[in-house]
Amino acid sequence: MTETVAPDNRSFAELGVPARLVATLAAAGVEKPFPIQAATLPDSLAGKDVLGRGRTGSGKTYAFVLPVLARLAASGTKRRPNHPRALILAPTRELATQIQASITPLADTLGLRSMTIFGGVGHGPQISGLRKGADIVVACPGRLEDHLQAGHAKLDAVEITVLDEADHMADLGFLPAVRRILEATPATAQRLLFSATLDAGVDVLVRRFMTDPVTHSVDSARSPVSQMTHHVLHVQPDTRLPVLVDLTAAPGRSLVFTRTKYGAKSLTKKLIAQGVPAVELHGNLSQGARTRNLEAFSDGSARTLVATDIAARGIHVDGVTLVIHADPPIEHKAYLHRSGRTARAGADGTVVTLMTDDQVRDVRDLTRKAGIAPKVTKLGADHPMLSELAPGERTFVEPTARPVQQERVAGSGGSGSGRGNRRRRASGTAQQTTGKRSGQNGSGQATRAAGGSRSSGRSKSRGGSGSPKSYSTSTPGSTTRPAGAAAFSAGSRAGTSRRGR
Ligand code: AMP
Repeated sequence: MTETVAPDNRSFAELGVPARLVATLAAAGVEKPFPIQAATLPDSLAGKDVLGRGRTGSGKTYAFVLPVLARLAASGTKRRPNHPRALILAPTRELATQIQASITPLADTLGLRSMTIFGGVGHGPQISGLRKGADIVVACPGRLEDHLQAGHAKLDAVEITVLDEADHMADLGFLPAVRRILEATPATAQRLLFSATLDAGVDVLVRRFMTDPVTHSVDSARSPVSQMTHHVLHVQPDTRLPVLVDLTAAPGRSLVFTRTKYGAKSLTKKLIAQGVPAVELHGNLSQGARTRNLEAFSDGSARTLVATDIAARGIHVDGVTLVIHADPPIEHKAYLHRSGRTARAGADGTVVTLMTDDQVRDVRDLTRKAGIAPKVTKLGADHPMLSELAPGERTFVEPTARPVQQERVAGSGGSGSGRGNRRRRASGTAQQTTGKRSGQNGSGQATRAAGGSRSSGRSKSRGGSGSPKSYSTSTPGSTTRPAGAAAFSAGSRAGTSRRGR
């Protein structure tokens, strides 16, 4: 899996990471450098421009966060209002938030201040954060440009710049903005660029903005990591959903991909209706709903996340045991990016692609281009292969939320408080049922079909510790959503800006 990295058993301290950072890392359980860190840290800590080719999950965040912090601490330049000293560009808000979460405890130990800048949230706190002075700004390009144009951010004091997931930035059409931003930083600033691939215009950035970059590749851009196993399940249209239900009702986190936002939304509803706690993630959701749903997936209250490609790259959740391409992606790069959400940080992972008769040819092309040879199995919902792919007892949750639509009707009936009710989290009840195998889904469904069984003595309160949290819809005007769907879904919003994603 490693292309150019020689085995390196050096510790973080031996690689040149300052002692205070080493101690903070150790406190977080990060003790031994991952290959991409061992490969890049000596050069990045020495101030060289570094081009890191590593997939997500390989540990690349620390590979750039550590040199940024160490270089800022060493340079000792004073923090000035509106003049950040380091800039980290990321394509999505989710990724920016994740990077910030990795930075914060480390920056605290050095007395450095870090902040995020991205769209979909108010300008005010970002403007005041910049005015207070930030050593490090973690930003999505669109909103950062807004602040540059308004004069709230000036990049002439930037000492080190990082471009994370540069290929994804290119895919999202951010490269012109990235170019303008990099042009506003001093030519002498150190630059680190991380990308899974070097095509799609990323090579142009490298030539234009990097000086004698040292290139380190960990994992080929084409081949997924070895611990990932790939399967294609050849299903009939009427067995597609039962197969999905069986796989996602198994223990562990599963991430399901659809091609369209509508597909993600509709599949989420269907899974919930079948008793699988699922949340959706796609570009039609408000930032609040995206954050909430991602949190529900991270904290385990929803074991299944149904997402579109655009959201795929922002999902950095460890412990995803199963990635399911419910719709095969259109091209092989998307297959690899989606699949890369599992088998993170050296863990094992299974990737399943569902294929119907009319998709056989496309899937064959896709897997060939992705460089994988999946095992293809023709099956229905009761096939033993499903238990092999997703072992363990199937668990179903009775989504007997207090009927949200009833609350709304009651709340809005002349009281004028309908809006508040719409935003309120459902505080319903859940009943867990288990089925040994997919063939028993039906019995689970029969129990679930009782729907209103929230008054049943067998129902467990969702509010209790250890119970799944519930999430109410915020879809304006929606009053027909079944109570079950309300329990684990978040609403859509119109007109999501592409900027700052
Ligand atoms: P990343 O590819 O940066 O998103 O990292 C993937 C996961 O690996 C994150 O949960 C990191 O906290 C974790 N991680 C990164 N480096 C190390 C390390 N050296 N030791 C243990 N865990 C790590």
